[in-house]
Amino acid sequence: MFLQRSAIAVARRGVASPLLRRSLATTVVRRDAVPSTSNQSTKIKTLSEIKTAEDLIGPGAKPGTVPTDLEQATGLERLEILGKMEGVDIFDMRPLDASRKGTLENPIVVRSAGDEQYVGCTGHPADSHVVIWLGLSRERPLERCPECGSVYKMDYVGPADDHHHDHHGDHHGVEEPKTFANFVKPEYW
Ligand SMILES: [Zn+2]
Repeated sequence: MFLQRSAIAVARRGVASPLLRRSLATTVVRRDAVPSTSNQSTKIKTLSEIKTAEDLIGPGAKPGTVPTDLEQATGLERLEILGKMEGVDIFDMRPLDASRKGTLENPIVVRSAGDEQYVGCTGHPADSHVVIWLGLSRERPLERCPECGSVYKMDYVGPADDHHHDHHGDHHGVEEPKTFANFVKPEYW
């Protein structure tokens, strides 16, 4: 089967710190340091109520209890959990289309919200060769599996570039290295 691994999906889970009994003075300092805790609601927001990154902060656990993932997860991990509760696949973890072999005219399209996307090809039919990881990017959206020849194309669905951003400086001035593909004559494509 085809595998899709998105860099954005690699959300690290924070290690839960052990519950420590704090003195009153320490608690006051901590509340001052994080003013948003005072007006933070203990209600768990649903997926449709998530509008900004601020909404992706969990209410935390009640004192004396061990927090669940739903209570303590933040950021992308929280978005993924809220999506799963409503049957929404946030990171689109479905296997890629393996019903055919991709060609240059009709490649297997892989959606990506990031600048780069790794695609694991196992051939057509699926699992006919070991998984080979191909790197697609916005600058080089087409890639062909060296084992079976299946062609993949990245479809960028992430946020549009802002106008102040110099497109050529996307990777901090580092130009993507050239490969043999850059020197193949057009008639051989
Ligand atoms: Zn392949």
